[in-house]
Amino acid sequence: MAYFAVLGSPIDHSLSPLIHQTFAKEANLSIDFQRILTQQGSLKATLAQFRLEGGQGACITLPLKIEAFELCQQLSGAAKTARAVNTIYWDKDMLCGDNTDGEGFYHFLSQDLALNLQAKRILILGAGGAVRGILGPLLKTNPASIVIVNRTVEKAQALISQENLKAYHYESFAHSQEAPFDLIINATSLSLTSQIPPIEAKWLKNTIAIELAYQKKSQTQFQLWAKEHGAIDTHDGIGMLVWQAALGFKRWHHFLPAIAPVIALLRQEQL
Ligand code: NAP
Repeated sequence: MAYFAVLGSPIDHSLSPLIHQTFAKEANLSIDFQRILTQQGSLKATLAQFRLEGGQGACITLPLKIEAFELCQQLSGAAKTARAVNTIYWDKDMLCGDNTDGEGFYHFLSQDLALNLQAKRILILGAGGAVRGILGPLLKTNPASIVIVNRTVEKAQALISQENLKAYHYESFAHSQEAPFDLIINATSLSLTSQIPPIEAKWLKNTIAIELAYQKKSQTQFQLWAKEHGAIDTHDGIGMLVWQAALGFKRWHHFLPAIAPVIALLRQEQL
């Protein structure tokens, strides 16, 4: 049986086995999909063992995406842009890496939400690995501007590559004249501790608010807060999660599975 896995730490709650087994059912494939707890610094050894046991491909999650990027001998364009890898596979004996996070987010926005971002103003909160993945696909939609606000402003500044991109620290952003925004993306890890990013609630009025995180409840704290302060629509990261997995599945099995039934399944399972 073809053997796949998700590698990271912590890994117990990863939804990848459920998502990939559901995709496999649709594709009429029989696969073994395991969670492998892998600490930072031990990815190389874990992958060598996984390969010996017949592993054909793996999802890479926190905190290993940069380590995977550094280990891969061949990288996709998306992985090079993001400088991070979330999907690996082998071409003969060559370890290859791709990053489907950004494309997954883009497909979620453009296909599931039918959002057209051309000439729109986008605010991104956070400048970590996820932002490195989504920035390239967002720029391809020709927005009017993208403003990136981050606690460590140097990380946001490092992502500024063209004129319609701007970087701020939260304090300087509070005094800026940047509003209004059509789309606000919360790409911080604050939601993991149910905290709200330190921006004024007035920025949320009449925006679409999306956050990349997801949790057991159907609405995250950020979604509830955004709605309360006038956001016209809010979404969590489940759509992105399923899309990035589907694009990884396609990379391995040359089959793009249906997204909506898997999102519905995850909602039903309450994660
Ligand atoms: P990361 O690289 O660790 O980046 C975390 C970001 O959050 C950084 O910008 C960090 O700012 C900011 N942050 C953390 N604590 C903060 C605080 N107290 N105040 C202000 N900002 C703070 O993580 P990541 O990989 O980019 O992931 C970010 C989020 O996206 C996570 O919630 C993750 O679960 C989610 N995600 C979802 C998917 C999906 O498929 N739905 C995929 C990838 C990621 P500094 O730079 O100043 O530290």
